[in-house]
Amino acid sequence: MIDDNYRQRGLRNNLVKKLRLKGILDENVLNAIGKVPRHAFFDNALLSHAYEDKAFPIGEGQTISQPYTVAFQSEKLEIKPGDKVLEIGTGSGYQAAVLLELGAKVYTIEFQKKLYEHTKDFLPQLGYKPFFFFGDGSKGIPAKAPYNKIIVTAGAPIVPTALTDQLSEGGILIIPVGDRAKQQMVRIKKQNGKLLKETYDDFAFVPLLGEQGWRNA
Ligand code: SAH
Repeated sequence: MIDDNYRQRGLRNNLVKKLRLKGILDENVLNAIGKVPRHAFFDNALLSHAYEDKAFPIGEGQTISQPYTVAFQSEKLEIKPGDKVLEIGTGSGYQAAVLLELGAKVYTIEFQKKLYEHTKDFLPQLGYKPFFFFGDGSKGIPAKAPYNKIIVTAGAPIVPTALTDQLSEGGILIIPVGDRAKQQMVRIKKQNGKLLKETYDDFAFVPLLGEQGWRNA
């Protein structure tokens, strides 16, 4: 069991307040962020940073996303309990934990073997049990499709057609698209078989690798 004491809960409540001030309005998303013990994802040396609104290194050259980014993408997905969600880029598992707190059924895929193995072992210890997959998520997971919602947590050069193909009718895809340094958040809704696109602010993610991502790392 992890230690989740009053101090950590206090820091987490402050983080939730900060996210509200930054424009996150969805109470379900704020509640979910308020529940996930983010400090459990951090090494001891970095523990004091767990409830800052910042991204942090988690090993294998990868990062745990900034809470604001996690909240923003989660809000735009309009998660309803029971939604089947595909996440590309498991990383630390923090975003997957937030989606599970929102009541989603989560399929998450990671391209780095060590990270996949670490998170597959670690996340269930916190009580979070998505379905874990190892491989190139830029192609989605066709065998488990369709999905009500798809979230890409790495920066893509294009919107992979594999992902829009795997969205169910009424489904939503949220994906950062741009160059390697910065990306614009893009939301695509499938309505009557048509793809409706909305764009939001800029973010900075690590690159999406693979066939429909940046091919050379
Ligand atoms: N969702 C994560 C953020 C991880 S950072 C969290 O909450 O912590 C992005 C992750 O995407 C990295 O772990 C990286 O290895 C992974 N990634 C990059 N390209 C990928 C691909 N084609 N398929 C699956 N994962 C990929």
